[in-house]
Amino acid sequence: MSEALLIDELRAVVGERGVVVDANDLENYNVDWRHMFKGRARCAVLPRSTSEVAQVVRLCAGKGISIVPYGGNTGLSGGATPDGSGSQVVLSLARMNAIRDIDALGETMEVEAGCILQTAQEAATQAGLMLPISLAAEGSARIGGLLSTNAGGTNVLRYGMSRTRVLGLEVVTADGEIVSGLRRLRKDNAGYDWKQLFIGAEGTLGIITAAVLQLAPQSCHRVTALLAVPTPDAALKVLRAARQHIGETLNAFELMSGAALELVARHQGLKTPLAASEWFVLVEASSCLAGLRDAVEGLFATVLEEGDATDGVIAESERQEGELWLLRESITEAESREGRSLKHDVSVPIAGIPAFLREADAAVAQAFPGSRVNAFGHAGDGNIHYNVIVSPAADGHALNMLVHDLVVRHGGSISAEHGIGQYRVSELQRCRAPSELRLAGRIKRALDPAGTMNPGKVMPLISQAD
Ligand SMILES: Cc1cc2nc3c(=O)[nH]c(=O)nc-3n(C[C@H](O)[C@H](O)[C@H](O)COP(=O)(O)OP(=O)(O)OC[C@H]3O[C@@H](n4cnc5c(N)ncnc54)[C@H](O)[C@@H]3O)c2cc1C
Repeated sequence: MSEALLIDELRAVVGERGVVVDANDLENYNVDWRHMFKGRARCAVLPRSTSEVAQVVRLCAGKGISIVPYGGNTGLSGGATPDGSGSQVVLSLARMNAIRDIDALGETMEVEAGCILQTAQEAATQAGLMLPISLAAEGSARIGGLLSTNAGGTNVLRYGMSRTRVLGLEVVTADGEIVSGLRRLRKDNAGYDWKQLFIGAEGTLGIITAAVLQLAPQSCHRVTALLAVPTPDAALKVLRAARQHIGETLNAFELMSGAALELVARHQGLKTPLAASEWFVLVEASSCLAGLRDAVEGLFATVLEEGDATDGVIAESERQEGELWLLRESITEAESREGRSLKHDVSVPIAGIPAFLREADAAVAQAFPGSRVNAFGHAGDGNIHYNVIVSPAADGHALNMLVHDLVVRHGGSISAEHGIGQYRVSELQRCRAPSELRLAGRIKRALDPAGTMNPGKVMPLISQAD
């Protein structure tokens, strides 16, 4: 068919301004956030409603054209980047950004998929509640992208991954049918919980157009503290003690190596307020009950006395809290200025973190002499960003396999929160059990038999004969 006809048909659905064809304007859609992947979109389409999404999907499905769903393009696995064929249509949800409703008593928000996370957070705050999904990309990431990647972030320890916030979902399936399950129920055991299939599917099964999210009560007091700890084993003892002293009020428990904070000092000029240490943990807790600070001071006394921490500081103001978090949030940027780094967003059972780090450090040092490990992450969730700074000549694939093999041996996952996208498709095939992969293939073929929803992401391209 003629290209002009396709564009005309798309414009008839989404309006003149809803179709981007200019090569310069398409650049944003062709490259991922980290500039690791570059593709070539046929065009980008920006529908204004769920009905328009369905019409676009039907139009493309009828012509066998593949669709790449696109949120804020902050994903770290190339999931929203088209392939290089020039045949794929990017479907951006950016014009569907309304917050449809907030139910203060039921603590729910109904929101369209294109709403930016920070906008949704602010609306929840204005309603006297909070939306407890938080990550450094929150000024750009959109609800549909967050749910499609089942994003984690800094609040997972207390509030769970994005999946746990979803009460209801509206999707457009691969054949263009609107399926609306926008119920705001905490209890709904009526049949299969199909929404879970679309959450974390990275756009490979259908398009998320809206969601009902579970909000949470705001906390009245927050305490943020930094502790120096001698080893990852000691850090886990601090975690255990924190659970005993401050229980469910613990929001975040972040592990950072001393080497990571040296990078932050060198490249960002940010100083750690404690003396040098092999490891540090950043702890945040919040509650509406009085006595939280006393409880954290009790935790400090215990872990210092036991020798599990050697020093510590509690933030005295919001500014100091911000300064402590900035140390943690600056690690990635500082690392990128240090040279080439190979990133592994992995998870292992929490108790296995120290052994995993020991074994991985030894194996990496032996196989890649001169490399430097930069390990940090959401240790309270078992999630370690195990990044290795290497020479430009190092064999990245061999290093990835070495780290992932160890992760699997420790009962972990090769992607804790960043998804698979196009980045880790072959590693997922290598590291997951054949039976799990076969089941995933059956789900993909059942929901997207023509294979037009974000092909080549998460799963290898599947032929219908498979
Ligand atoms: C500085 C920075 C910090 C980050 N920190 C974290 C972190 O702490 N934790 C974490 O988990 N991630 C983190 N990320 C990764 C990223 O922010 C998340 O993956 C986020 O969820 C992506 O949202 P997005 O709207 O940008 O999605 P995109 O990047 O646009 O898309 C991501 C995937 O979802 C699909 N998709 C997008 N919208 C839809 C839709 N409506 N329906 C179906 N599929 C869709 C895309 O096709 C793609 O496969 C970080 C990224 C950056 C740049």
